[in-house]
Amino acid sequence: LEQEDSFDFLFKIILIGDTDVGKTSVIQRFKTGMFSERQQSTIGVDFIVRTVNIQGRKVKMQVWDTAGQERFRTITQSYYRSAHAAMITYDITRRSTFNSVPQWIQEMEQYGAANVLLALIGNKCDMESERQVEFNEACTLANQKGIVVALETSAKEAQNVDQAFIVMARELLACN
Ligand code: GDP
Ligand code: MG
Repeated sequence: LEQEDSFDFLFKIILIGDTDVGKTSVIQRFKTGMFSERQQSTIGVDFIVRTVNIQGRKVKMQVWDTAGQERFRTITQSYYRSAHAAMITYDITRRSTFNSVPQWIQEMEQYGAANVLLALIGNKCDMESERQVEFNEACTLANQKGIVVALETSAKEAQNVDQAFIVMARELLACN
């Protein structure tokens, strides 16, 4: 058995984005492999940890949730400051959440570390019939903003969630 608390790298990753895009669901899916229709909006855990093995290196991912603070735009600056990476999340079925992405990027530029790694995550890709944002729009925006990782996920159907975190971990390993 692996020692739970041993690791070679520790990365702090934050999820930001408009309310109800599925940040808490994505984090819970990554941690427990499960999805629950009703996520508590205002009361939540601060962070989860999961250690993944990448090319023989134990990478401990500490993934932080906004715990509902984004609802009131009261995210504290320290939440951004110590993050190695941020997953900027929108809901592919609600264009307004995609339109907010530049503001979230700006928050990171303003309050985050200079070399913070950004990813653009379009969640709820299981709801294809209600899609309002095409993936190529996300890729274009990511290119414009210098974001290297753009992916669509479904916390509900477990699509690309682990993948998103593993891609982030690989990128972080490459530059740390
Ligand atoms: P947050 O406010 O960004 O943390 O979003 P939540 O995780 O609380 O999710 C908001 C709502 O979207 C909840 O009703 C979830 O069940 C639902 N949801 C989250 N992820 C998905 C997904 O991938 N697909 C679908 N269909 N619904 C989702
Ligand atoms: Mg939440």
